[in-house]
Amino acid sequence: MTFAETLPSSATTASVLTPKADLFAQRAARLRVLASDHSLGAWLNWLADLAEAQHKALATVPALELHFDGLIDPSRPLLKIDNLQLDQAWQAVYRELTVAMDVSAPEQDANRLSLKGRQCIAHAAGSAAEAPREASDLLVAAALQVVWLAGACQLALPEFTQLEHRDCCPCCGSAPVASIVLAGTGNTGLRYLECGLCATRWNAVRARCTFCADGSVVNYWSIEGGNEAVQAETCDQCHGYIKTFFQSKDLQLDPLGDDLASLALDVLVGEQGFARGAPNPLLIEGDCV
Ligand SMILES: [Zn+2]
Ligand SMILES: [Zn+2]
Repeated sequence: MTFAETLPSSATTASVLTPKADLFAQRAARLRVLASDHSLGAWLNWLADLAEAQHKALATVPALELHFDGLIDPSRPLLKIDNLQLDQAWQAVYRELTVAMDVSAPEQDANRLSLKGRQCIAHAAGSAAEAPREASDLLVAAALQVVWLAGACQLALPEFTQLEHRDCCPCCGSAPVASIVLAGTGNTGLRYLECGLCATRWNAVRARCTFCADGSVVNYWSIEGGNEAVQAETCDQCHGYIKTFFQSKDLQLDPLGDDLASLALDVLVGEQGFARGAPNPLLIEGDCV
């Protein structure tokens, strides 16, 4: 059977899926499940606490003056850090998260915090080599996620928005953290990429590299005897990889959380010479991979 025979037609395929407002609560619950019997259980439980704090902080984000004029242009993302309102909102959330997570030395200087925010945005877009290095940097990413998700929910892009560029988030221009192949009525087999910052999902065809254009050959890797719901999709042309999660194997999976709980797969494909093309804003460089 070919993909063309099994997939719904593109005319009925939503190009954009807006994240749900309970995403952080769902992620927290998912991380708790993933943490049990996991070698990194303590870390995953800490991330679950963080997701719960993000869920609480989301309720404090004010209405944002955002406007979608019908045009998706990656050079002018709809959510951007030089929007003063967004910049102030994420810094306020950062302060809430540092209290909730009892971080010992939170960044107090507004200018330095602003710089950290910009570095985090660049890392999420895949354009910065520097990954987060300490827990307080993760809270910068976590705070941005809260406000960017609020922004995506408030913008609520139409499902059938035309997308010219499928390699970056239509809302905020970030790189995808992973992809998910959906299951369920009308959706079965559809593949979406999920933004690592605002959690918007956008449609992307299967069996094609996410990072380089047509003609690339992709292969799928998984851990023998491991979680069947995740595969790493590697590209022989650009030597990048992204993880793909299959809802048909596990309806509860959360691409960002499940990515963090499947780092053994990163080690496996890393040993084969492939490099992570999909930055996870909550992954500390050198800590686990
Ligand atoms: Zn986004
Ligand atoms: Zn490629």
